[in-house]
Amino acid sequence: MAAQVFDVLGFFSPYVIRAKILMKRLWIAQCQWDDKLPATIFPVWRDWTSQLSFITPHPVHRKYSDSDSPIMSSSLQGFSDASKAAYGAAVYLRRVHEDDKITVSLVYAKAKVCPLKTRTIGQLELQAAYLLADLLVYVAKTLSLPLDSAKAWTDSTIVLHWIRRPPCTLKEFEANRVAHIQEALQDCFWRHVASAYNPADQASRGVSALELLNSDLWWHGPPWLARPEDEWPHLVVGPLPRELPGVRTVTLAADVEPVVPFTLWTDYSCYNRLKRTVAWLRKWIHNFRHRKAPDKKWTDVPLSCKELSAAHIFLLRKAQEETFPEVFQLIAKKKPLPASHKLGGMIIHLDEQDGLLKATGRLRQHSLTTPKVVIPLTLDSHIVGLMVHTAHKDYAHPGLAALLSLLAHRYFIPGLKNRLKKVSRKCVTCSILAT
Ligand SMILES: [Zn+2]
Repeated sequence: MAAQVFDVLGFFSPYVIRAKILMKRLWIAQCQWDDKLPATIFPVWRDWTSQLSFITPHPVHRKYSDSDSPIMSSSLQGFSDASKAAYGAAVYLRRVHEDDKITVSLVYAKAKVCPLKTRTIGQLELQAAYLLADLLVYVAKTLSLPLDSAKAWTDSTIVLHWIRRPPCTLKEFEANRVAHIQEALQDCFWRHVASAYNPADQASRGVSALELLNSDLWWHGPPWLARPEDEWPHLVVGPLPRELPGVRTVTLAADVEPVVPFTLWTDYSCYNRLKRTVAWLRKWIHNFRHRKAPDKKWTDVPLSCKELSAAHIFLLRKAQEETFPEVFQLIAKKKPLPASHKLGGMIIHLDEQDGLLKATGRLRQHSLTTPKVVIPLTLDSHIVGLMVHTAHKDYAHPGLAALLSLLAHRYFIPGLKNRLKKVSRKCVTCSILAT
């Protein structure tokens, strides 16, 4: 019966959607076509069918405005809204006439039942915005109206924040829809409307036929649309919430650290080159995150010592995370390291400034003398292997004892002596120097 309502332009969608919501309830209740309606659904159904006769004789004007005065400007105003049951969108044509009369009339509307899959209200509001973007593009094309004067209104601030973000920063569901919306409409089209003035609210929750026929809000949009634009309420959307749902979360080693792909270093054979690449990436990510105006010259500024040193710390932290994940976990749980652990003979703490694991105490047994605090690393990490190899070259192929002492000043690396011997043995320069 609901399908028999011939309503191509969706003018009666707030009423028709109620029947569609009922159908969904019947489907969930697994009712067969010849079953009796459940007692909870029957009265609602009877109420809906009894009102069907009200809308049948209702005339819909072919003319969008009742003014004969020449039209000065036309614009489209679209509204979207969602509830747990359904979501919808409505598009209005607003015309300003030469005699200053402004007319607003409903042009096209659509309401859809929410999918069975559980979605948050924010996601459903986004789905409604997606529907609205499509409706606006369609109506603009059909009426040959410029889309750039259109406005899209939603009462969901989350949706407005999502639409302003690059889709790559959002989770899959949000990203796909935001990308589509941004492609259809630029973000400057979107405005916030108070729920009480949002006509699409009727499409999303459904109303009775009588309520719909008598609703000025539905047929002509919010009353202020018929006033000059500078008299419209101006609702400012607040700053981005700290924890915006639907945003892709990235686990960071420390709260301000940018993320660099974890497999980056396996392609490198020189630590200094890797460090420079990481420093450039961090610089780029920093510029991107702080939304600095794209500066063509930023790559012309050489890397500073501070940036290189931060990249070095970043790489050391990645090496530690790779090889000592259990130590980070134990420290987070405030548990001691088992004595059998390769760092078990030392007192380990997490340096809150640089996020690195640091080792103190009992250093004599590891043949380290002077330093009080060192950075524990292992040669299992490709980064550490590269660093040791490059240090051999950077310090101009020194003797074993000299380099061991230089490195041991800052790091605790089990097996370092053997590795340095190996590096030296394979080094062409060292073999020439030895002869
Ligand atoms: Zn050498």
